[in-house]
Amino acid sequence: TQYVYRFGGGVSDGGKGDKNLLGGKGANLAEMASIGLPVPPGFTISTDFCAVYYDEGGQFPQGLRDEVATGLAHIEGVTGKMFGDAADPLLVSVRSGARASMPGMMDTVLNLGLNDETVEGLAAKSEDARFAWDSYRRFIQMYADVVLELDHGAFEEALEIAKEDQGFTLDTELSADDLRALVTEYKGLVEKLWGKPFPQDVHDQLWGAVGAVFGSWQSERAKVYRRLNDIPASWGTAVNIQAMVFGNMGDTSATGVAFTRDPSKGDRAYYGEFLINAQGEDVVAGIRTPQYLTKVAREDAGAKAASMEEAMPEVYGQLAGVFDTLENHYRDMQDIEFTVEKTKLWMLQTRAGKRTAKAALKIAVDMANEGLITREEAILRVEPMALDQLLHPTLDPNAKRDVLTKGLPASPGAASGAVVFDADAAEKKAADGVAVILVRTETSPDDIHGMHAARGILTARGGMTSHAAVVARGMGRPCVSGAGTLSIDTKAKIMRCGGREVKEGDLLTIDGSTGEVMIGAVATVQPELSGDFGTLMTWADEVRRLKVRANAETPEDCRVAREFGAEGVGLCRTEHMFFESSRITNVRQMILASDEKGRRAALEKLLPEQRKDFTEILEVMAGLPVTIRLLDPPLHEFLPHEESEFAEVATAAGIDVDTLKRRAAELHEFNPMLGHRGCRLGVTYPEIYEMQARAIFEAAVDVAEKSGAAPIPEVMIPLVATRRELELMKAVVDKAAQAVFADKGRTIEYLVGTMIELPRAALRAGEIAEVGEFFSFGTNDLTQTTLGVSRDDAARFLGAYVEQGIYAKDPFVSIDVEGVGELIEIAAERGRKTRSGIKLGICGEHGGDPASIAFCEKVGLDYVSASPYRVPIARLAAAQAAL
Ligand code: ADP
Ligand code: MG
Ligand code: MG
Repeated sequence: TQYVYRFGGGVSDGGKGDKNLLGGKGANLAEMASIGLPVPPGFTISTDFCAVYYDEGGQFPQGLRDEVATGLAHIEGVTGKMFGDAADPLLVSVRSGARASMPGMMDTVLNLGLNDETVEGLAAKSEDARFAWDSYRRFIQMYADVVLELDHGAFEEALEIAKEDQGFTLDTELSADDLRALVTEYKGLVEKLWGKPFPQDVHDQLWGAVGAVFGSWQSERAKVYRRLNDIPASWGTAVNIQAMVFGNMGDTSATGVAFTRDPSKGDRAYYGEFLINAQGEDVVAGIRTPQYLTKVAREDAGAKAASMEEAMPEVYGQLAGVFDTLENHYRDMQDIEFTVEKTKLWMLQTRAGKRTAKAALKIAVDMANEGLITREEAILRVEPMALDQLLHPTLDPNAKRDVLTKGLPASPGAASGAVVFDADAAEKKAADGVAVILVRTETSPDDIHGMHAARGILTARGGMTSHAAVVARGMGRPCVSGAGTLSIDTKAKIMRCGGREVKEGDLLTIDGSTGEVMIGAVATVQPELSGDFGTLMTWADEVRRLKVRANAETPEDCRVAREFGAEGVGLCRTEHMFFESSRITNVRQMILASDEKGRRAALEKLLPEQRKDFTEILEVMAGLPVTIRLLDPPLHEFLPHEESEFAEVATAAGIDVDTLKRRAAELHEFNPMLGHRGCRLGVTYPEIYEMQARAIFEAAVDVAEKSGAAPIPEVMIPLVATRRELELMKAVVDKAAQAVFADKGRTIEYLVGTMIELPRAALRAGEIAEVGEFFSFGTNDLTQTTLGVSRDDAARFLGAYVEQGIYAKDPFVSIDVEGVGELIEIAAERGRKTRSGIKLGICGEHGGDPASIAFCEKVGLDYVSASPYRVPIARLAAAQAAL
């Protein structure tokens, strides 16, 4: 097999289609080279080799060494410089690059190929000793950090001292001699910390760096990132080795990062940051404050330092041309890294730019309108779950705010929470259910788990393209970065700003859309659903086949659901209505009654209340189907606990407290979830379901009369396992319907169906469909009963199960397609055989999960039902599933 693929100098062994093989970075470098953009020559060692590397126990077989030699010869041929040549050395960068960009991977090593001899050659050849020694000291520092894994603090300290000694603040003020002295010191540090001298053989340097990249694939950081992002360990990483170009060659050189459109708002404007006389990571690492790319952006920000457009108009013009070429070629917004070496522009990376949900929507809709992509592509461009960011509240513009300071609006959305100063604390508190804001001077890949756990992120340093900003946008966490007036004392767990102090645990609010940081928790308002959001939703609705309903049980939920585009209610649970304080006493009286007469007396009192519940819901949903599930939870959940509660019920029922307590003890269950619940309640106490059915039909007839748009109640019987259960319960419901219709002199349309949430029901769906007029897959219970896993107890072990690959994802979040999915397929098929066109839906938590929705589309269900806030996510996911 071939492991090495070349690019640059008119050669491209690969292209953008080869991401799996070459990693994203390598594939796009080859692609850019092939469309004629200026890319320093190099080669990629493929991801295939990553597995070989681990199989070989971290050794490099001769075959690979030969291929790498050929790759180096390619770079030498194009550049005319030789690797290790003392007179005019070729320097390279060694860059990791997985399929998906992964902040957990090894950092890049720049300037590799420098040693005590070649540094002199570089100095002589470039006629700039300062640049050569700056490159060498950077190389030692990076190599010591990422390859040798020595404590980088020692090197940073030495650099700080070197500057302080001279009274300098910037790296660029250090002279060639200062840097030469620093190199000596660095080499001493390496020998002290590593026990061996800094490697002088350039080939040893190269293989050390290559090994470090492959080794970093199994680092803890990388593993955490893979787990959070569902990236399989089998993918492996590639390694890119590329000729260096230098942004640190003086004032006509620079390095920068850019987006072809605004990644935060999505506006069609070039967007980026750059630094003159700097190298690689300087921009993102926040070493100096980066300058803006465009004049407009500089003016908007009120910044003084010249933009690239002003400082280097010619190169800027070229760069803008490259942006357009790339956007037209990739037909997507690109995130770009570039370097200018003595006014010559070099492209070092391009990839689809990470963006906020707001920007994703705007860019997708704009590009479709520009004709760059089709509407279908626009639909596919927006990650359904990302909409979550937009569907949630933002800060109430009229709410009082106690503004502490302002930073950069790095990732939009508002968040409030208790302040924590390190990632571990964030994770721990979040696990205890506390909303936290993670506050850091700046973030690094080590903080990812804490950023994930936090509601929002605040940093004192770093620009719009800093680590914190990029990662937060990717995760959909609000982020304010670069709030420079904050002084953070991580050890003392306190931050200070303008004479005020914020301690760990204090409440803080950040607004990632404005950059404001506020003391306390600030009120929020509902999101705006028009504009690009509305447009994309309309497009999605045009292509999707699945209907989308909501799980809603209050008029308010129903209103939100309708606003979000729900086409009915897929699950209206009735139990919470029983818990309401005004009626719980009657409910308890009903449950604890010793005979039917006692129960009926209590139910009589509940009927008007229940009718009112349904009237309000059916009014909001007029004209649409509403699936109402009859009482489902174990009776024992309603039992009184307190002495006073028993007394109240006893009075209402006219019996003594002791009898009542005895009755309550009789109702105790060992395993309530598999106990006296669901249709078992209806079978034993049919009068409960009779009352509920009456309430539903009386309400429905009233609403039909008043509104004209008749509601369509679908009465749903829970936890059915057998045909006979459903037959008995349907008879109760039908009888109640007939009674109400006769009473009111008006008939309405309705259905009686069942939940399929037990494996037996799925298997016997053929005969159950003889009675049931619709099925709704209750995938929460179906998952519990199929896997034999209690959802409420699963947290203790499910994490380990997912980690060890027993289940690919949490089966309560995303349907276990193989097991639970097969039962659904069987039930759908058998149900349809008996009753062609039987209405099929899903109402578990899974109804709002895009992967599960794709499964529902495949099985051909009629609708999914999700919580109101998930309705737009489901609409988009359903459209994507249909394409
Ligand atoms: P990351 O994946 O963390 O972005 P990269 O491999 O892209 O790491 O390298 C980071 C930065 O290092 C690049 O943006 C670029 O500025 C610099 N860099 C990498 N390779 C070269 C090179 N051959 N010449 C000049 N600069 C380089
Ligand atoms: Mg990069
Ligand atoms: Mg259930």
